[in-house]
Amino acid sequence: MIHIAIIGSGPSGCYIADMLAKKLPDSHVDLFERLPTPFGLVRAGVAPDHQHTKNITRQFERTLSRENVRFVGNVHIGTDLSYAELKEHYHIIVFASGAPIDRKLGIPGESLDGVYGSGEFSRWYNGHPDNADLNPLISENIAVIGNGNVALDILRVLSKEKELLLKSDISQTALDKISNANIKNIYIIGRRGAADANFTPMELQEVMSQPNLTFHIDTSDIPESPPEHIPEERLRNTAKNLEILHNTKTQASAPNGGIIHIHFLFNRPISTITSDTSRVSNIELTVNNATSSLATSSKNLLPLNVGTVISAIGYVSAPVPNVPFNNNSGIFEHHNSLIEPGVYAVGWCKRGANGVIPSNRVDATTLSKDIIADLENTVPLPHKEGFSCISTLFNERNIKPVSYNDWQVINKAEIDRATTGKPREKITTVSKMLNLLN
Ligand code: NAP
Repeated sequence: MIHIAIIGSGPSGCYIADMLAKKLPDSHVDLFERLPTPFGLVRAGVAPDHQHTKNITRQFERTLSRENVRFVGNVHIGTDLSYAELKEHYHIIVFASGAPIDRKLGIPGESLDGVYGSGEFSRWYNGHPDNADLNPLISENIAVIGNGNVALDILRVLSKEKELLLKSDISQTALDKISNANIKNIYIIGRRGAADANFTPMELQEVMSQPNLTFHIDTSDIPESPPEHIPEERLRNTAKNLEILHNTKTQASAPNGGIIHIHFLFNRPISTITSDTSRVSNIELTVNNATSSLATSSKNLLPLNVGTVISAIGYVSAPVPNVPFNNNSGIFEHHNSLIEPGVYAVGWCKRGANGVIPSNRVDATTLSKDIIADLENTVPLPHKEGFSCISTLFNERNIKPVSYNDWQVINKAEIDRATTGKPREKITTVSKMLNLLN
């Protein structure tokens, strides 16, 4: 029997678990997860109004219910179980622990009240126990820093009409707070030009089609077609983005007001966040004069009066004690996924926080082939005990892992308490989840 431990039950963890469990029938896969609930970023990162994307969990449910797969929730690797213990009891270890930590802007004022990273902010509206009680300051004027799809997610969730969010699985606390916030202006701020934005056209068009918004875009700032420095593989998306930005109607068509103004500001690196109190009140933007990279000039400073700043500028992974980690790139130290013999990384903790959910499937397919080839070269395979030894350690340490059947209990409770057409109302504390199981 080959004992396999996978750390993290988000898309990468579920894909690699499925592939290894299928291709290695003489194996047992234990899928470890820090929370009592599975699915990582699909549950707590993907925007709540993107239920079509969240539907991938149906496929992942089938993986978790496979005979040779065991969901082991509520266990923190590095705290409850050490890396050394995993290596002692498993033949193969795969880190699929994602990239949960917000990158920092590294500018003065970042620690003021009212400044949030997109990770903590989206975990808040997604009802993730780590940030469910964030209670962010949401002011009339909001700055969203970054030109990627996460910035668009935040913008959409903050500006979408309440009736539409009522069908999503946004946390009720977040929905109430956002819809009572009287948001007037949202500034979406890129440090480079419109052609360099990482938006994908579908996500950009979705925002631009919201009838309750008035857009402010300086089209003289936006090229008609992709400039020369745009790489071949991005030409199509860039051309489409530019077309969308040029063609966007600037007036909202909402019948009864409730209109929010969306301001796209390109080539505007943020230099400072300031305040008269402990709460953010202003930001200052400089000008980027370069065509492709960054060459900031402090002439033409643009001060903006905002009471909330959300930086959506990417993520880094969380290190695990004694697992080689590259602090510069914020991912595990690896060579083609291999951390050390028998230990691998996959997904965002391997390649950085980029790519959509299916990119992780591609990553997992390659890795599953590499693992199988490495196993064929490891003969004889040493005897290891896998979960039977681990469960002894759990008993000794009074750790109560959450099983797949336990997750079904939590899942049902969330579905049962949903109202207003929501698919679920998430339980937002670990203790309430565990109480359901007693
Ligand atoms: P991203 O696509 O890498 O975008 C990050 C943005 O932050 C870039 O515009 C970047 O600008 C900017 N940035 C970085 N450092 C900055 C700084 N110090 N100051 C100002 N701006 C800064 O990352 P993401 O939006 O977090 O998304 C992560 C991945 O998830 C992406 O692959 C995305 O497509 C995917 N995703 C997909 C969906 C969807 O399909 N619906 C939804 C959400 C996320 P530069 O280009 O200048 O570095």
